[in-house]
Amino acid sequence: MTQVIIIGGGFSGIAAAKKLHETNIPFLVLEARERLGGRVYTKQISEDLYLDLGGQWIGPSQDRMYALCEELGLDYFETYDQGYNILDFKEQVKKFKGLIPSLDIFSLINLDFVLKKLERMAKTIPQDSPWLHPKAVEFDRVSLAAFVTSQCKTKSCQKVVSLALETVFAAELNEVSLLHALFYFKSGRDLNTLININNGAQLHRIVGGMQTLVEKMAQPFLQQIKFNHPVSSIRKEDGVFTVQCEGFSYKAKKIIMAVPPVLAGKINFYPLLSAAKRQVLDRIAMGQVGKCFMVYQKPFWREAGFSGQAFADEYSPFQSMFDASPKEAYFGIILAFTIGNRAKTFFEKDKEKRQAIMLEKLTKYFGSSAETPLFYEDFSMSDEAWSRGCYAGIYPTGAWTGFQDAYAKTENDIYWAGTEASKVWFGYIEGAVRAGETAADNVLLDLK
Ligand SMILES: Cc1cc2nc3c(=O)[nH]c(=O)nc-3n(C[C@H](O)[C@H](O)[C@H](O)COP(=O)(O)OP(=O)(O)OC[C@H]3O[C@@H](n4cnc5c(N)ncnc54)[C@H](O)[C@@H]3O)c2cc1C
Repeated sequence: MTQVIIIGGGFSGIAAAKKLHETNIPFLVLEARERLGGRVYTKQISEDLYLDLGGQWIGPSQDRMYALCEELGLDYFETYDQGYNILDFKEQVKKFKGLIPSLDIFSLINLDFVLKKLERMAKTIPQDSPWLHPKAVEFDRVSLAAFVTSQCKTKSCQKVVSLALETVFAAELNEVSLLHALFYFKSGRDLNTLININNGAQLHRIVGGMQTLVEKMAQPFLQQIKFNHPVSSIRKEDGVFTVQCEGFSYKAKKIIMAVPPVLAGKINFYPLLSAAKRQVLDRIAMGQVGKCFMVYQKPFWREAGFSGQAFADEYSPFQSMFDASPKEAYFGIILAFTIGNRAKTFFEKDKEKRQAIMLEKLTKYFGSSAETPLFYEDFSMSDEAWSRGCYAGIYPTGAWTGFQDAYAKTENDIYWAGTEASKVWFGYIEGAVRAGETAADNVLLDLK
């Protein structure tokens, strides 16, 4: 028997394990996949070319991420953010500089009003307990889509707000409660931070890819991680847990759950989890996003004065595009996000067609130099049995006010980690690390 079993070898589970390792507490990590990182997944294409198919960016106020990079000696670099951006509405392409897209004056005034209103509302949310806001019930009754529709007076304004927020949540806005959206902005500092590269959540990437960080964190205790160990049931009898995987079982005094809510809900618990915990597990749904990469010999768009960023309405499958080239730019990579319903339609096509669609867009944006890529790759976590979607679990209408803190609450010696248990940078890797460390701290306190 060990003291603690951690379920899930993503950033959250590994952050918890790192703490327990540093305090000499015996533990095991049970991980369903044959790799670490979960929703962070770096695919190595060749020695000097890799693609971050899952989470990739870090930014200001993600203090634990920067501290871990420093502690483990990992280098990071700024996302390329110079030159013209592209706005593609109704397949009409315009270029613009800075944050403000080239819209008519009424749409620009409206856009400024809506974004500032969301910022003002988010500022008033109690970050640790969004359900305690005096208007929590009112905000939790409507979807983010309903709010956006009510506030946007021009079509262009609505399109810009929608594609920006869809990129933030990786979901259709009618799946997101307004209260959850406001909490999410507050949790990640503010909306401005979440949508920006400059001084924002998309500021830095790790040299070598994000998965290298979680692998470095786990290096000292690799032998305590059991790969290909999907947990199917957790039973507690006489104060001892028996955790069942296919063909194996392990015993421990305490459990840290560090898996996405949708997958925690598939595990059988004896005794049952509380009704509130079970119901909130059923409510929190995952978003859907595909990351599509076009890889070139070099980032040729930079020489032509483009940033590589593009933003498009529903006539394109891609809400947004970014320059995702490596630090030294020895390859040029454009990363496109296809989200929600656009992703569903896009991934119904075969890969050859998906590549052709992206190529056509890039040629339209950047000219004939875009016609000859080295290769195309795309990926959707929705097709991964051990993620079931991304970026993170989303609270629909009624969930925050109905279940409050039920998800993160420790119950019967089971401690809940994962990014969805964090009130700071919920949904982000920083949130995952913080929630894992908090769960480990709580276990350590209780063991004392
Ligand atoms: C496409 C995409 C882009 C993103 N972009 C960013 C970004 O740029 N910046 C950012 O900060 N965040 C980003 N995110 C979000 C970020 O990746 C996640 O918030 C974070 O990685 C979650 O970590 P976690 O440890 O909580 O969960 P996970 O990473 O999901 O880890 C859970 C682990 O549990 C395992 N598991 C599941 N079920 C079981 C079971 N029954 N038994 C055993 N093991 C199990 C899984 O295999 C997985 O390894 C992105 C996510 C995606 C998918």
